[in-house]
Amino acid sequence: MRIDILTIFPRILQGPFSESMIKRALERGLAEINVVDLRLFAEGKHRQVDDAPYGGGCGMIFKPEPLFAAVEHLKSGAAARVILLSPQGRTFNQKMAGDLAGERHLILICGRYEGVDERVREALVDDEISIGDYILTGGELAAAVITDAVVRLIPGLLPARSVEDESFSASMLEYPQYTRPPEFRGLAVPAVLLSGNHAEIELWRRRRSIERTLKTRPDLLKNAELSAENYKYLEQLSRDQKDTLDSRGDKE
Ligand code: SAM
Repeated sequence: MRIDILTIFPRILQGPFSESMIKRALERGLAEINVVDLRLFAEGKHRQVDDAPYGGGCGMIFKPEPLFAAVEHLKSGAAARVILLSPQGRTFNQKMAGDLAGERHLILICGRYEGVDERVREALVDDEISIGDYILTGGELAAAVITDAVVRLIPGLLPARSVEDESFSASMLEYPQYTRPPEFRGLAVPAVLLSGNHAEIELWRRRRSIERTLKTRPDLLKNAELSAENYKYLEQLSRDQKDTLDSRGDKE
C-alpha cells in the first residue's frame, strides 16, 4: 500500500512514522509513505499556494492549481483514492480505517489556514474525512492519525487475533487487561484470569466487554455481534440498570 501526504509543512510529519509499528511496516515493505511538499507544484518565484477569499473575509485559502497538479502527478494516470482532511468530512472510525486499509494507493490532502478552494471538493477529491468535531490548525496531525490507524491494519503486520479483539472491532469496547504482579497495592487480578480455564476466561472477558460498552458507549451495542448468551446477559444488565434508576427516582 502506498500513502502520499500532501502538505506545506512536511517536517511536521517526520516523527510519527519513524518509530514502532509504522516504522516496521515501512521497513518490511508492507507500506510506503511519502510526505510530499505541495509547494513543489506551485508556480512562480514565491511558489504561492494560497490566496485571499473572493467575497472578502479573514484568512487565506489554498488555490486549486497546485493541488490539482500535485494529485495528477502523484496518480500518474493510475487509480488512487484522494482524501481531503477536513473538519466538515465524515467522522473517522475503525470501520473506515478497515476500508482504507484495503486500498492500494491513498492521497491525503492536508489543508491549512481557512481551508481549500471549493473546486477541490467538487472535482478533485473522492472523500472528505474529519478526525473529530474540533478545529486543528492543519490537516497534518489528522493525516498522521489516519495513516497510523490504517497501516496497522495491513494484513501481516499485527497478529490477526490482536486486531480482532480490540475496541470497536466487533462494535464493542475491549475487556479489562492485567499483567504481573498478581497483586499490586492491595489490588488483585481477578482470580479467573489466573485459573487457566480458557472457556471461563472467554466468558469473563465477553461479559466485562458488554458491561464496559453498555456503561460508556451504549451507542455501539446496536451493531455488536452478540451470541444468545451475550444477549441475555445484556438484557439482565439493562434491567438492573433500570431498577437502580427507578429506585433512585423513588427516593428523590
Ligand atoms: N475554515 C475551516 C472550516 O471552518 O471548516 C477550517 C480550516 S482548519 C483551521 C485548517 C485545516 O486543518 C483544514 O483545511 C483541514 O485540512 C485541517 N483540519 C482542521 N480540523 C480538522 C479535523 N477535525 N479533521 C481533519 N482535518 C482538520
